[in-house]
Amino acid sequence: MDSMSGKKLIPVGISSCLLGNKVRYDGGHKRSKYCLNVLSECFDLTPFCPEVAIGLSTPREPIRLVGSADSPRVVGVKNPDLDVTDQLIAYANTVSENQKSLCGYILMKGSPSCGMERVKVYHENGMPNEAGSGAYAAQIMRNNPALPVEEDARLNDPVLRENFITRVFVYSSWQDEVMQSPSLHEVIQFHSRHKYQLMAHSYEGYKQLGRYLADEAPKKELDEVLLEYILALMTHLKNRASRKSHTNTLMHIMGYLKRDVDADTKQDLLEAIEQYRSSQVHLVVPLTLLKHYLKRHGSEYIQSQAYLDPYPHELGLRNYI
Ligand code: SF4
Repeated sequence: MDSMSGKKLIPVGISSCLLGNKVRYDGGHKRSKYCLNVLSECFDLTPFCPEVAIGLSTPREPIRLVGSADSPRVVGVKNPDLDVTDQLIAYANTVSENQKSLCGYILMKGSPSCGMERVKVYHENGMPNEAGSGAYAAQIMRNNPALPVEEDARLNDPVLRENFITRVFVYSSWQDEVMQSPSLHEVIQFHSRHKYQLMAHSYEGYKQLGRYLADEAPKKELDEVLLEYILALMTHLKNRASRKSHTNTLMHIMGYLKRDVDADTKQDLLEAIEQYRSSQVHLVVPLTLLKHYLKRHGSEYIQSQAYLDPYPHELGLRNYI
């Protein structure tokens, strides 16, 4: 299947109820218009309902998390003898094993099975304990800590939405560009294309991973480097890029044009970046101007930066941050 950009759709898992499937305990759904109408244009959304998959009926008795926040049990609200924790964990292991092509996962908020975080956990006596993660979701994240995961409700926040979609596209590129024929050279090339994207999310991460690839990676086994690199990259990319960190990145990129544009153009670029820094315009404004000049004067290296085009521009994500 092709996306809005003409490229193949990226496989992304999703809680089935978010696609409008009536699989919830009360026989209803939680259709997400954004997932169905917008994200389905670039993601191949594959639905999973762990509670139905382990044999629970629809409708069914509601379940909840009970015990410690770190490793709660998933038990029936009315019938605490119904304990489906082990089945949910086993199903998560099956999905992780059989769906290795997934490049992201969108989860239903607050569910004792699918919730990513802040799911209510109760003491045995029914009193609220600290919040935790749904049992299925926690196992999916444990099995692949590099996998981009987000909750549907958080996709309403423009910064979190842009962050998640960026991570999915980076992870998909990693699978396509490095994991098809992995080598240290490919990892270094990949890193080189993602340098400014990483800088926007974590300046510390940008320096750390540069040092790692130069000093430590050549002395290690390739398999270890592949695991360590992608986990570190995806963890750093989880940091929210701020106006300050985007401004810093834009200034670095503008440095590549220094000798090739005249003083007036330089002034225009600086003004656009300053307007962005001071919240007068969105990121799309200075970036569009920068890209215009980079197209004419930028080196192959700077033009190849994923930061400039991290996902199809039709998504319009940078019109909101
Ligand atoms: S939140 Fe998860 S377990 Fe609950 S209905 Fe949706 S997909 Fe099924």
